[in-house]
Amino acid sequence: MSISYVLVEQLDGRPEPVTLELITAARALGDVVAVVVGEPGAGVNLAAELGNWGAAQVVSAEVSGASNRLILPAVDALHILAANNPGPIVIAATASGNEIAGRLAARLASGVLTDVVGINPDRTAQQSIFGDTIQVSAAVGGASPLYTLRPGALDGVAVPATGELATIEIPGATAKDVTITSFTPSTQSDRPELPQAKVVIAGGRGVGSEENFRSIVEPLADALGGAVGATRDAVDLGYYPGEYQVGQTGVTVSPDLYIGLGISGAIQHTSGMQTAKKVIVINNDEDAPIFQIADLGVVGDLFDIAPALIEEINKR
Ligand code: FAD
Repeated sequence: MSISYVLVEQLDGRPEPVTLELITAARALGDVVAVVVGEPGAGVNLAAELGNWGAAQVVSAEVSGASNRLILPAVDALHILAANNPGPIVIAATASGNEIAGRLAARLASGVLTDVVGINPDRTAQQSIFGDTIQVSAAVGGASPLYTLRPGALDGVAVPATGELATIEIPGATAKDVTITSFTPSTQSDRPELPQAKVVIAGGRGVGSEENFRSIVEPLADALGGAVGATRDAVDLGYYPGEYQVGQTGVTVSPDLYIGLGISGAIQHTSGMQTAKKVIVINNDEDAPIFQIADLGVVGDLFDIAPALIEEINKR
């Protein structure tokens, strides 16, 4: 049986939900080897869960100091494994995931397909381009073709497998390595990560101010257990930090529910959210283009509707 590799996304020692999506996609390509990169012992606590999700094997790729380095430990780990035993490699389409895939493609002399939304047993994959208006099926060459999968593009389905644990050592940092010297999150919040959130509440220029993001958009996100997103105009006006920008030059999201407040629906924004399963928008201009992609559109003032919505949800 052929194998495929998945780079496990983890946070605080737990696999991130997107890892289940990666395993689900990679299963089409062969028995899944889930690769956990980190400090010695990194994979031990995750093996059972990853096995339950469908990993036939869990490789703990270890080196002291890995948590203070950026992407090279992951590149080294997958390079060692695929050079020894080639197979397709599936990685999350995040900023670091795309960089890891690019470096691996160069090292392994394989092709890479980024931001795919589906992978097929014949190693072709689907990409959704031009603002998700066109679906392309593309093939990629090399013994270890690389794919980065858009978080939220498919539903993760757990199919329990053996999850047999193996360990490899990866090289330590060289003098040229970038190491992290301090880490300060720009915002302290318990909200889910935007690219993987199942619910996204996005605010636009119509929200009007940073203060209104704090008093309207964030409470609605918290009432629904969601993440906050913003349009580029809202970011440029200083209403919300740039890392939360959704769209062509920001983050792509595919949540179960997207709620847009005071957003007009420019293509550069909708290209980053229109694979959302349900789209609800509130806008006081009935001709706003965002209504064309909405499942439910409310024509009205967000300052009346959103607080009433928050109150109603919090009562339940
Ligand atoms: P507007 O277009 O000004 O819309 C505000 C909306 O709020 C209006 O429809 C208005 O009716 C409504 N409104 C106002 N007051 C209220 C109220 N009280 N209640 C309800 N509704 C109200 N944009 C992105 O978002 N992401 C990107 O990644 C991105 N990349 C870009 C890349 C390029 C190369 C370029 C050229 C542009 C990019 N843009 C991006 C910008 C994009 O073209 C739009 O300018 C932007 O998305 C508009 O933001 P907005 O909807 O918040 O503002």
